[in-house]
Amino acid sequence: MSTGQFEKGYFGQFGGSFVPPELQEVLDYLAEQFERYKDDPEFKEEYLYYLREYVGRENPLTFARNLTEKLGGAKIYLKREDLNHTGAHKINNVIGQILLAKRMGAKRVIAETGAGQHGVATATACAMFNMDCTIYMGEEDTRRQALNVFRMELLGAKVVPVSKGQGRLKDAVDEALNDLVANYKDTFYLLGSAVGPHPFPTMVKHFQSIISEESKRQILMKEGRLPDAVIACAGGGSNAIGAFAHYLDEKSVRLIGVEPEQAATLTKGVPAVLHGFKCLVLLDENGNPQPTYSIAAGLDYPGIGPEHSYLKETGRAEYYTVTNEEVLEAFQILSKTEGIIPALESSHAVAYALKLAPTMARDQILIVNLSGRGDKDVEQVFHMLRK
Ligand SMILES: *Cc1c(COP(=O)(O)O)cnc(C)c1O
Repeated sequence: MSTGQFEKGYFGQFGGSFVPPELQEVLDYLAEQFERYKDDPEFKEEYLYYLREYVGRENPLTFARNLTEKLGGAKIYLKREDLNHTGAHKINNVIGQILLAKRMGAKRVIAETGAGQHGVATATACAMFNMDCTIYMGEEDTRRQALNVFRMELLGAKVVPVSKGQGRLKDAVDEALNDLVANYKDTFYLLGSAVGPHPFPTMVKHFQSIISEESKRQILMKEGRLPDAVIACAGGGSNAIGAFAHYLDEKSVRLIGVEPEQAATLTKGVPAVLHGFKCLVLLDENGNPQPTYSIAAGLDYPGIGPEHSYLKETGRAEYYTVTNEEVLEAFQILSKTEGIIPALESSHAVAYALKLAPTMARDQILIVNLSGRGDKDVEQVFHMLRK
């Protein structure tokens, strides 16, 4: 995991930490503690124990035989993050960070959530590790995602609706940061994606790298060689960076991130500071972050992780957009051909694979990171398809 890692959390010109001094102190201490524990054999053993016994890893790298035959090109393999406990990749990072929180002596975990998926994963782990849990959520989002609010409460978390600003994710992040600064002695802020000021992007990548650590081992076992391409959807970029990590130094492997057309941060963004770090950001004509929209709530973010910004700038990874129609089509095709209903977020990666695979040779290999399962999206797709 050396590629792209620079001093103080910089990835080329991207990353860093642009926060008030009192928060910087807290983050410096967090960075120090992360460095102290990340390669500690006992810490790693405990992390792998919970991934195995609680999350259900390792999950399979499934050969999608029917889809491969239907498309008539590259062999398609699916990395099955959808089979994890709580139904997506987010729990990998949550388990890692909560173990670090325990090592640091925290009694209380706080987190932000937009659609609720990271909040649910955090509340789940807090229940199991017996930690006090507070989730900040934009008021608007608590109304739209009432069922996820109930889920978090069922798991024992306190959900705090944030009405400041626009009552959206950004405002929830600000409230969580205020809470952290006020209560840093016993509180750990568990951030949900490979974004934010240093050390979060590096830390989240570290814990999500388990995805490519496994997929690399699995593809070498099954095929005796590396894949030709790895495809993942990119919102904040955590499942994608985890799916790419162990291939970054393998120059023969194409790394492909897929974004929604209406949140095309990497395809259309410009360098700017957002939420305390520098990345590619979608700005409006006045230089403010543009409101994004995605049918996949988990991809609805105007910025992107700093390392993806760097990988895009250097050309090591490629980023493309797909349309909502293509995503809905992919959601249905994977369901019908393989009996796997993908999350709408993951359907972005599938949608691009549907275009790419037929252009490749039959002896080539494509790994699609299936970041989550689609049960949560079935009702939404039902309504969209009826229109
Ligand atoms: C949250 C989520 C995403 C987007 O987050 P990243 O940090 O970009 O990975 C993608 N897929 C699923 C299933 C999610 O829940």
